[in-house]
Amino acid sequence: MKTVTVNIVTPDGPVYDSEVTMVIAKTTSGEIGVLAGHIPMVAPLTIGAVKLKKADGTFELAAISGGFIEVRPEKISILAPSAEVASSIDVARAKEALSRAEGRLQKKQDDVDFQRAELALKRALNRINVQEGNI
Ligand code: ATP
Repeated sequence: MKTVTVNIVTPDGPVYDSEVTMVIAKTTSGEIGVLAGHIPMVAPLTIGAVKLKKADGTFELAAISGGFIEVRPEKISILAPSAEVASSIDVARAKEALSRAEGRLQKKQDDVDFQRAELALKRALNRINVQEGNI
């Protein structure tokens, strides 16, 4: 099966650069599966998992905190505010972030704090699920 290069890049630097046969990502309008040779497109991503299918049929997972996917026939780029491959996720840290966010959501502060806490909660849950392969 044909492969395509996938790069995942954040402001802190690149977190993934490999050949895959398929990328499954969550865009704001739904999940997409992209194969090598796909026509060019750009789509915004939600906080979610990206599944990277390797030539041997196995999947690698990455937690993505939004951003964009840019598809070109020979290269797929994911640009995200933060992203981690499953093996580099610190679950204890994500669990702490989750309980902090839950605490803030219960306090019912102003809208801005509420939205921030909600996003922090989604990032933390996503990291936990990706690290545990629970997606
Ligand atoms: P925290 O409150 O734990 O910092 P956060 O969701 O606010 O979580 P981000 O702002 O999304 O964190 O990310 C800041 C940096 O920390 C990024 O480089 C991100 O990859 C990294 N990071 C955040 N949480 C984790 C984690 N649980 N494991 C590994 N890296 C993480």
